[in-house]
Amino acid sequence: MKIAFIGLGNMGAPMARNLMDAGHEVIGCDPVATPDGITMAATNAEAVDGADAVITMLPNGKILSAVAAEIHPAMRKGAVHIDCSTVDVTSARDVASAAEAAGLGALDAPVSGGIGGAAGGTLTFMVGGSDAAFETAKPLFDIMGQKAVHCGPAGNGQAAKICNNMILGVTMIATCEAFALADKLGLDRQAMFDVVSTSSGYSWTMNAYCPAPGVGPQSPADNGYKPGFASELMLKDLGLSQMAAEAVDADTPMGQLANQLYKSFVEDEDGKGTDFSAMLPRFEKRGRV
Ligand code: NAD
Repeated sequence: MKIAFIGLGNMGAPMARNLMDAGHEVIGCDPVATPDGITMAATNAEAVDGADAVITMLPNGKILSAVAAEIHPAMRKGAVHIDCSTVDVTSARDVASAAEAAGLGALDAPVSGGIGGAAGGTLTFMVGGSDAAFETAKPLFDIMGQKAVHCGPAGNGQAAKICNNMILGVTMIATCEAFALADKLGLDRQAMFDVVSTSSGYSWTMNAYCPAPGVGPQSPADNGYKPGFASELMLKDLGLSQMAAEAVDADTPMGQLANQLYKSFVEDEDGKGTDFSAMLPRFEKRGRV
């Protein structure tokens, strides 16, 4: 397939390389990044010319909408626009409608798995859009990831992503505050891990991504809380879930509180540039508020 890849940052560049390694012809475009070994076009419109599929991997919904307006008129009719960025559900649905009005297929296909998953080709794709577009894109998902779940019509991929990450943010906070409480109660961290990881408090944040250094499998806590998944990206995703909750009148008090905590951590404390599991040292520094 001829594939255009727009947005070759931390995630996009390794995803594009995996497509190239699998034998696809890939042309990239990015105003800033200059990734090694990827042929680049001067403009987004030039990159998508004649492509069978166009993948976008961009910072937010505003940029996605602007890029969509540039590329849709330049895309070949019947080609598919696969957006893998994490954006708000409304932008995803608007971009899909614009693509379909221009005679294109459209999918929102945000990912889970981070930079390691992008490099290793082990991402999980959560996909919204038509059956036909999903079938066209499936072989590409199979190269870039280990799993692609078709979640329903346009926007449902983003809905799955923000619901998952709302659970992740809330669970990370719960795990960190429990460790900080355990410390103050004199409970050894290894003992805490050994109990909780096989008891009813277990979770991905405890068992696979433990926020306490030296406990459980290797995680960013063992590397000075270097991301990993940065606190500001968690804040972005919690902001998107709260925006969505407001739009549909859903009651999400835990998500709202998690959003407030990460907002303070990133904007007013020392959380910017740290992994989202650095909530643990944050709780340890504080007493009861
Ligand atoms: P990034 O900032 O490294 O990459 C984004 C790229 O988009 C940059 O290189 C930027 O120059 C480019 N870009 C901006 N405006 C553009 C335009 N008009 N035309 C073409 N390119 C443009 O971000 P990232 O970490 O690669 O994340 C990309 C997306 O994936 C985000 O939506 C993020 O939330 C999501 N995501 C990231 C991770 C992660 O661990 N980094 C995990 C899952 C999902």
